[in-house]
Amino acid sequence: MKVPFLELKPGYIELKDEFDAAYHRVMDSGWVLLGKELEAFEEEFAAFSETKYCVGVANGLDALHLILRAWDIGPGDEVIVPSNTYIASWLAISYAGATPVPVEPDLVTYNIDPARIEEAITPRTKAIMPVHLYGQPADMDPIMAIAEKHGLRVLEDNAQAQGARYKGRLTGGLAHAAGTSFYPGKNLGAFGDAGGVTTNDPELAEKVRTLRNYGSKVKYYHDIQGINSRMDELQAAFLRVKLRHLNTWNARRASLATAYQSALAEYSSQLFSISGFQLLPTVPEWASPVWHLFVIRHPQRDALQKHLAEHGIGTQIHYPIPPHLSGAYSTKKMKDSTPSSISRVPSPPHTSSSLNSSSSILSLPLAERLASEVLSLPIGPHVPDDAPMLVRQALDSFL
Ligand SMILES: *Cc1c(COP(=O)(O)O)cnc(C)c1O
Repeated sequence: MKVPFLELKPGYIELKDEFDAAYHRVMDSGWVLLGKELEAFEEEFAAFSETKYCVGVANGLDALHLILRAWDIGPGDEVIVPSNTYIASWLAISYAGATPVPVEPDLVTYNIDPARIEEAITPRTKAIMPVHLYGQPADMDPIMAIAEKHGLRVLEDNAQAQGARYKGRLTGGLAHAAGTSFYPGKNLGAFGDAGGVTTNDPELAEKVRTLRNYGSKVKYYHDIQGINSRMDELQAAFLRVKLRHLNTWNARRASLATAYQSALAEYSSQLFSISGFQLLPTVPEWASPVWHLFVIRHPQRDALQKHLAEHGIGTQIHYPIPPHLSGAYSTKKMKDSTPSSISRVPSPPHTSSSLNSSSSILSLPLAERLASEVLSLPIGPHVPDDAPMLVRQALDSFL
């Protein structure tokens, strides 16, 4: 591969001295869990996110799940979530015992369409979980207005968008709480699993802090049933190093995105005039994305992926199977085992639905369509500058 989709090692090499110093600092301290490094990282990430609190946990799934747990959202409750997200957003809801209720995306931004949210609200709805997908902020103002009108809480899934801004404000501080992931491939990634909750609500922060450590505030006194979801000192120390470089690394992603937009502009307008396809991502004027992924759409997606691979360009699909069609949520499995199911949302009148009333499979045509059309091009702080040009050259010989 001339341009691999993702490589983690160059990030280590670039900051090797800082990572190695962090490693020695932790090992020399003799303290490996819930110590000074985590405390310092929590303070620094809260400051970065412009929120009052950050609570470090073991991964992004737990961050989202523990927010729901802290709000006492569980069996019998519904949480609205995008139909086209990574399955972890849905699983966090199921893990809490509640029911994910999918809402379809806006096909221009790929984020949850605020205009479709109200029709999905029922008396059981407790919260809305917008996802800042691919590093682009969801349209939060209308979402917060709907939530306020119906007395709902809002938690951002900020796993893909650390550093992104919506109307000048940072994601992770736009709602009542946010869960984020420091999975190695994320914009701010550890060398293993880690996650975090950001919020301005002191009670929520305190409850998540207790829940992540077996429901204990004082060792061996367990007031509530918590879980074990601690971020270890080594990961916190490594993340403190990377956090200092996050804005610089996000800026490198942004300059690659700009280069892709101009290198592919001509091909894009040709494709649009032939097929009406929007190849390139669209950024609304109120959004400053952080380009976790650079996602294009193409009618011959699978052939294009193969063609790019033959030209040495690695790509991936985010995501090939929408959650409702995956085994985890397909109707058959739900009947077999799990008490929490997906709620059927009545099809809005403006979409033609393939749902036939006797069929028990949920139909979410926009998520299904995107799953067959999206393709992620290499983007990241260590992707070579000539990647956009190489993609453009490969496209010259496609079709
Ligand atoms: C990565 C991711 C998660 C889960 O994070 P983990 O740390 O892998 O548990 C949740 N939501 C989205 C949108 C993600 O991309």
